[in-house]
Amino acid sequence: MNASSSSQQNRLGHRGGTHTESTLKSSAGQGGGARARAATLRATRAGGADRLVEHARAVVIGGGVGGTSIAYHLAEAGWRDVALVDRAELTSGSTFHSAGLVGQLRSTTTLTRMMMYGTSLYRRLGAETGVDVSWHEVGSLRLASSKERFEELQRQAGWAKTFGLPLELIAPEEAQAKFPLMALDGVLGAVWLPTDGWLDPSGLAQALAAGARAKGAQIRQHTRVVGVNVEHGRVTGVEIEAREGERSTIEAEVVVNAAGMFAPEIGRMADVTIPIIPMAHQYLFTN
Ligand SMILES: Cc1cc2nc3c(=O)[nH]c(=O)nc-3n(C[C@H](O)[C@H](O)[C@H](O)COP(=O)(O)OP(=O)(O)OC[C@H]3O[C@@H](n4cnc5c(N)ncnc54)[C@H](O)[C@@H]3O)c2cc1C
Repeated sequence: MNASSSSQQNRLGHRGGTHTESTLKSSAGQGGGARARAATLRATRAGGADRLVEHARAVVIGGGVGGTSIAYHLAEAGWRDVALVDRAELTSGSTFHSAGLVGQLRSTTTLTRMMMYGTSLYRRLGAETGVDVSWHEVGSLRLASSKERFEELQRQAGWAKTFGLPLELIAPEEAQAKFPLMALDGVLGAVWLPTDGWLDPSGLAQALAAGARAKGAQIRQHTRVVGVNVEHGRVTGVEIEAREGERSTIEAEVVVNAAGMFAPEIGRMADVTIPIIPMAHQYLFTN
């Protein structure tokens, strides 16, 4: 996160004064798997204000699938002092409401490669972390009910080949054989991607969090970010408030805003505008 303002220090509380060194430990058992171990952040106490100041290389704000994935991958890349904070519990944001559909073929190369990587991760993450992500590799269908849409599917088949995705153009009857609930009226054709699927989004976030913990990250729930500290146009850390109301500081080289639809609120704490507009969404479950 880059801040647009040039100097914005100690927004919400006093830091500084004389410091005494101490170590803060988080409980490894906080929802983590058996392989999780205690993570520590270096901590000091600001003598005058008796205010705790901790130090992490990176603070990730938000314990949805985005934040837990970032913490997992930072820890996997060898970042040992990563702290993830969520104002409530893990997956209490939009991740909890997600349908969990995973379609790999996207409109850009980067997104498609990320989705393909995601699919390979979902296949192994349960065994790695001991937390089931409920990955179901059931395949996906995209239907064409107009000539233009059919041409688009044909283009998608060519695009998929460039990634090595096993996407096939199939006849309407073949699509119906795979998904008997669909009506054939007006359907000109379909594409079938057998390696797409769905999973449990909350399970995925919990598995990523367990994996991050096992690799040394610290995860704190019921810890709200109430301020982002900025000095000379760079973030230097965050002000946090625990459930009990106690406020403290985590100083960090990197602050990651993974607060989902609340990201603009966090951005405003550092005078950064984040153009996200939440929109209503529907989905239908069938048995
Ligand atoms: C109905 C629905 C269906 C969907 N279906 C799909 C689908 O099929 N496939 C798909 O890929 N995507 C789907 N999505 C989208 C997907 O759910 C989201 O893209 C994803 O969950 C976003 O995750 P996130 O981690 O960015 O945000 P969130 O899950 O919202 O996490 C943000 C976290 O930040 C925390 N937070 C906020 N403010 C603070 C603060 N001040 N301090 C500390 N923590 C804070 C919140 O408590 C929350 O836990 C769907 C979404 C919805 C709503």
